Amino acid sequence: MALSEDFLNELRLRCDIETIISQYVVLKKRGRSITGLCPFHSEKTPSFHVSSDKQLFYCFGCGTGGDVITFIMKIENLSYIEAVEFLAAKVGLEVPQNNVDDKVSKLKGRILEINRETAKFFYKALNAPQGAEALSYLKNRKLDDKTITRFGLGFAPNSWDSLVKHLKKKGFSEYEMVAAQVAIKSRKDNLIDFFRNRVMFPIIDLRGNVVAFGGRKLSEQDNGPKYLNSPETPVFQKNRVLYAMNFAKTSQYSDTLSKNGRDRYFILCEGYMDVIALHQAGFDNAVAPLGTALTENQVNIMSKYVPGVVIATDSDEAGQKAAKRSFELIDKAGLGTKILKLRDAKDPDEYIKKFGAERFGMLLNDSISAIENELEAIMKKYDTDTDSGKVQALKEASKALAGINNAIERDVYISRLSQKLSVSSQAIAQNVNNIIRQRQNSIKRQERANLSVNVSPKDTVNVQKRKLLSAAVCEEWILGSLFCHPDFYKILKNEQIDSSSFVTDWGKKMFSIIENVVTSSDTLDLMSLSGVLSPDEMSRMAEVITKDGSRINTSEQFSELIESLKKEKRKQSISGDSIKMLDDQSLKNLIEEISKDKK
Ligand SMILES: [Zn+2]
Repeated sequence: MALSEDFLNELRLRCDIETIISQYVVLKKRGRSITGLCPFHSEKTPSFHVSSDKQLFYCFGCGTGGDVITFIMKIENLSYIEAVEFLAAKVGLEVPQNNVDDKVSKLKGRILEINRETAKFFYKALNAPQGAEALSYLKNRKLDDKTITRFGLGFAPNSWDSLVKHLKKKGFSEYEMVAAQVAIKSRKDNLIDFFRNRVMFPIIDLRGNVVAFGGRKLSEQDNGPKYLNSPETPVFQKNRVLYAMNFAKTSQYSDTLSKNGRDRYFILCEGYMDVIALHQAGFDNAVAPLGTALTENQVNIMSKYVPGVVIATDSDEAGQKAAKRSFELIDKAGLGTKILKLRDAKDPDEYIKKFGAERFGMLLNDSISAIENELEAIMKKYDTDTDSGKVQALKEASKALAGINNAIERDVYISRLSQKLSVSSQAIAQNVNNIIRQRQNSIKRQERANLSVNVSPKDTVNVQKRKLLSAAVCEEWILGSLFCHPDFYKILKNEQIDSSSFVTDWGKKMFSIIENVVTSSDTLDLMSLSGVLSPDEMSRMAEVITKDGSRINTSEQFSELIESLKKEKRKQSISGDSIKMLDDQSLKNLIEEISKDKK
């Protein structure tokens, strides 16, 4: 999906990488270098670099990098073309339509229009006489008018096709309505409304588009599930959206837990009503997955905005199970996480109604950590008044304690447990340490096993790098220097280097892509490649340019690199079967060259 050179030039001119990134990251200028805290991994000292000259960013901590489009793709969770559109809209440019995948992007646009129109239709219906029952349901749940408007809540009328008729009048086709999943074909092949007689919750993405709907039935006697969500559409993937994230991403909520407002966090709830109730009570950092378990994608999205998450699921068994699952997922992603302990209420919504926002705020502040939760559950499970119960509880608790990485934290819990069970803390500590040692040994064994089959970390960008390390590194130096000094291309041509002179497939591919840009346009920067390379490849190129590109400054140094590449290539040709394919003359030449290498 190549965009025209003219358009890219215009976008390049208007979207300075430093200006765009500084809308997300606090950047500090020191001399020529611009640095900040990386938004893609959590860190305390800045290793995130932005280069205005080269119009690229690169993080020395996590290796993420690329051009301004890659940055927007990653931080806003968008596809390439969506990121281009996002940037273009920001600076008032129009993306030339003939260059993008016309049909799909047009349909997406139409679906978003349908969704917006549908949300308006539902909102109107809620406030019309037919919506009286739905409105009183929301009022009973103590939602005020301001909240109803803010969340755009609505009502899907109790009729077969009132929405379909309305959308037809507005000029939308049946095909478009079905694609948007607001209408379906009935068994008799009539087009009918997808949501009927339900309270409606529009689902809004990070850019403020209505992408889908959730509908709650009005009475238990009605048919269908309690909550019904839109199926997936070209504009809606449910595992990539969090409810109310459009508000929470800019939440200013802070308290002592978030340490002077610096370390912001989200409150992760189970459903729409909890989120809305929390927002109304002033906790506008509440979000929820869309009626399914939390996904890795959703955790990644959260991690782009906050360093921590407080899990506030229902207090019943299912809710606690979900909390544990979410905890593991969030913890794995490196975010801080705590589980909120709701006492005497089944969910956050009920808690706030019963005890008020202030008490909920206090609860947040002393939300206990997951390990405390787990220990409490273990204590409940066994009768610790009996010896056998005590032994069982101790066994299980030791396993949980062995999972704590911080030794001080571990000690705190050990001494608490020792008091609770009247067992000496030394005995517990010994038990825990044994488990830790066993686990470490098994990890070491695993590592040794991995080493023996030569499974060091994979390089997913250049899969041959591990096997052909010196060649791959040499190639990276050449590509990086070529990027910083496009005039070096002449030297490559003089030496008759083309893509087949490269050793690894990735090197070959990258060289021919770069060569194509160098020979066909005046500008060589990362943006010229972002439509062609994957985000991972963009990161690698940003790394190569940042780390290797600046090391080579003279044409003599560059020529030396070319010699090394040739040498690597010859090394390759004499290994394996290729030597058998050479005719006598080529073999002679090769032997001569190799003996030159040795001198
Ligand atoms: Zn980073």
